[in-house]
Amino acid sequence: MARQSARWRPSELLLPTPAGLYCPPADIHIDPVRPVSGALITHGHSDHARAGHGAVLATRETLAIMALRYGEGFAGSQQVALPGEAIRIGEVDFTFVPAGHVLGSAQIAVESRGLRIVASGDYKRERDPTCAGFEPVPCDIFITEATFGLPVFRHPPAAGEVAKLLESVRLFPERTHIVGAYSLGKAQRVMALIREAGYERPVYIHGAVEKITAFYQAEGIPLGEIRLVSESDRKTLGGEIVICPPSATQDLWARRFPDPVTVFASGWMRIRARARQKGVELPLVISDHADWDDLLATIREVQAGEIWVTHGEADALVHWCGTAGLKAKPLHLVGYGDEGEAESEGGAVDAPAA
Ligand SMILES: [Zn+2]
Ligand SMILES: [Zn+2]
Repeated sequence: MARQSARWRPSELLLPTPAGLYCPPADIHIDPVRPVSGALITHGHSDHARAGHGAVLATRETLAIMALRYGEGFAGSQQVALPGEAIRIGEVDFTFVPAGHVLGSAQIAVESRGLRIVASGDYKRERDPTCAGFEPVPCDIFITEATFGLPVFRHPPAAGEVAKLLESVRLFPERTHIVGAYSLGKAQRVMALIREAGYERPVYIHGAVEKITAFYQAEGIPLGEIRLVSESDRKTLGGEIVICPPSATQDLWARRFPDPVTVFASGWMRIRARARQKGVELPLVISDHADWDDLLATIREVQAGEIWVTHGEADALVHWCGTAGLKAKPLHLVGYGDEGEAESEGGAVDAPAA
C-alpha cells in the first residue's frame, strides 16, 4: 500500500511567479501573462487569456472566445474542461466551476493531498442573463481579485441602471445613445438587460463588438435584433442605442451620430470624477466584478481560513480580512486589471473597425 503523502504546504501547491500563479506538482500556470508550456485559463478577457501557450485547458466557451480573438492556432493544443468535472494532472485535481463573470468564465479549484485552493479569477455575484452564476466552493485557501475592493464601491442593481438608459432614450428621441461597454461580456450583458426591460428596437453595434456578440447569440443567449453601424446610415440613428468599446466613445467615430449622448457602463462610473474625465454624460454603474459587499460575502461563504488577493485594491481587502480574523496576503500579481485598458492595449485584436 502506498504511504500517505504528507500534506502540502500551500506554497508547494500554488505560488505566485512573474508568469502568474504556478502549480509545481502539475507544472502548470493559471492565467499566465507570459507564454508557458501548460496553462489553465479562467476566462476570455485579454488580461487573463493570452495567445502563445503550449497546452491550454479551459471551458469550451473560453477556448472558442480565444480562437475568435487570436485565431485557431492560439495555443499548441487545447483541452476542454467541463464544469464541475475534475481533471487530474500528476497528483493534482483541477475543477472548473462557474464564476458568473462573462460567458464561459470559471474559478479553478486546485486540490491535492487534502488541501483545496480555489483561484476564482474575476467574478461577480449579481445575476447575469448571459452566463452561469458564481458557485461558492468551500476551500482552505480562497484566491480573490479586488478590482472594487474598497467600501466606496457598491454596485446598484444593473436593472435600475439600464432603466436610466431607457428613460434617457425616451426623453431624447432625436439623440443617439452611444454606450461604451467592454466588447466581451459587458456589451452583451447590456443588450440582454435592455431586452429584459422590454426594449424591442434593433440595437446597433460597432464592428469591434460583432464577433463576440455573434458568438453569444450562437450560444443561445437572446440579444434581439442586432445591426452593424457600418451597414447603417448614421444620420438616421437618432433615438437609437449604439453599443461600442469604451475607447470608441471618445473617437471621432462617435461624433458622427445625431447629437450623441455618451454613456459608459462600468463599475468605475461610481466615481463621478472618472465619468467627467471621460466625457461621459450618462454614467451607468454596471460591473462584471464583485463589489465590496459581495467580496466580503463571498469570502465568508467559502469559509476559507486564508485569503490571497491577486490584483486590484488588495490592501483594503487584506486589512478587512485581518479584522475578521482571517489570514490574508496580497500576491502582487502583475498584468491583470481593467479589461478596458487591456483591450485598448490589445491593438489589432479589438481594433475599432470603422
Ligand atoms: Zn475579466
Ligand atoms: Zn481581469
